[in-house]
Amino acid sequence: MLNKKKILLINPPGRKIYIRDYYCSKVSKAYYLPQPIDLLIQSSFFEREEYELKAMDCIAENINKTEALEKLVDFHPDFIITQVGSVSLVEDVAFFTQVKSTLPSVKIIASGDALLEDHEELFKIYSWLDVIVTNFFNDGAKKWIEKDFEAAAGIVYRGENGTETKSEKRTVKLELEVPRHDLFIQGNYRMPFANAMPMATVLTNYACPYPCTFCIMSTMPYITRSAESIILELKELKRLNYKYIYFSDQTFFQSKAVTREVLNWMIEADYGLSWMCFSRVDVLGEEEITLMKKSGCNLIMFGVEFADEEYLNEYKKNYTLDQIRETFDLTAKAGIKRLGTFLIGVPGQSEESILRTLKFAKEIKADYASFNVAVPRSNTSFREQAIEQGIIDDSVKIMDQSGDEVTMGTGKISREELQKLKRKAYLSFYFRPSYLLKILFRIRNRTEFKMHLREAYFILK
Ligand code: SF4
Repeated sequence: MLNKKKILLINPPGRKIYIRDYYCSKVSKAYYLPQPIDLLIQSSFFEREEYELKAMDCIAENINKTEALEKLVDFHPDFIITQVGSVSLVEDVAFFTQVKSTLPSVKIIASGDALLEDHEELFKIYSWLDVIVTNFFNDGAKKWIEKDFEAAAGIVYRGENGTETKSEKRTVKLELEVPRHDLFIQGNYRMPFANAMPMATVLTNYACPYPCTFCIMSTMPYITRSAESIILELKELKRLNYKYIYFSDQTFFQSKAVTREVLNWMIEADYGLSWMCFSRVDVLGEEEITLMKKSGCNLIMFGVEFADEEYLNEYKKNYTLDQIRETFDLTAKAGIKRLGTFLIGVPGQSEESILRTLKFAKEIKADYASFNVAVPRSNTSFREQAIEQGIIDDSVKIMDQSGDEVTMGTGKISREELQKLKRKAYLSFYFRPSYLLKILFRIRNRTEFKMHLREAYFILK
């Protein structure tokens, strides 16, 4: 019988609910926790006949460090594929140092925002690390395992003559095999306002073609999947009894023809699962929004970011406040809820500007709002700007977009003041009487009541 190689996909343990995937780590702001998408996509590359795969999501399964090590020893993988976050860097490094000293033969392959820069230096300081995945949509890790170094793409590894970098491959349409959802514990993943459980995460495209300077996604190559490959995954999720889909694309509907084909299939096949996604106000028009509603979409998250046109231009969002107003109206008319994400704390930003952002969130009647503090992510021009202005120095590597810990002030507002303003924004948005009344009138049953109660508890927390 063929001796299968053993691979463990592991989201490491942590003291907080860390979300480490998609090169953008954070502490979970409410109680949300999507499936670790880097690991899911990587799972699709390994053939069942040749590899024995196991997944262990220590965050979703509430597995502590000691238990994780015991389980690791028990399974004794040949390879570990994992994620390392800027937000959890100290804990992750301590954990993998211990893993390597316990199982010296295991090879550790990791993606994550903490590993995007200074690769040579990283390999020097992290002796436990064997391969860095710089693009998890490529099968470079698998090619490295198979020692097919020529064909590998989207990885950096320790070569015979030092650090080897295999550049990321762009493909026109990726025919991804169905990710191994069956390996992940069902029922432990959740997003706010998802109206059914269990929830699965699906990625129909990778990265983002827009140039927003504060966002790591703008620095990566945009890749889309084929409609056939997405539909196969949706069929598998239904077979596995999932009830809700979170499309975690950075910009859903970016590849119009592919998305149209998938949504039309969902309608024709009477797919029946509700779903949510992220998109941009200038990508969705009336036709797209109508199709989304018909195919089961109940919530769209839009990156609104600022209420000042000056900032929308400076950070290259490339749309206007009027476009935001218009798309929010169209979406509401279609009967889809809108969550606006807002960015606060960019260099030079004043308290008045942040308060304008809060006012705008109310003006556009966002159903939900998420206020994120600006984070100087690796490889972004935004980070360079913050360094140039002396707001941070280059050694700042630990960061958290959720604002659990604020990385930097704005030059006009301190980190502590920013933290207070964020709290004020949440309380003012969610606990105004008109909003509370709107929610109360909307509640139709006990499940919805419980859902809103839970959201309120986590917002307050
Ligand atoms: S549109 Fe969104 S995901 Fe894309 S680069 Fe801009 S902020 Fe990032």
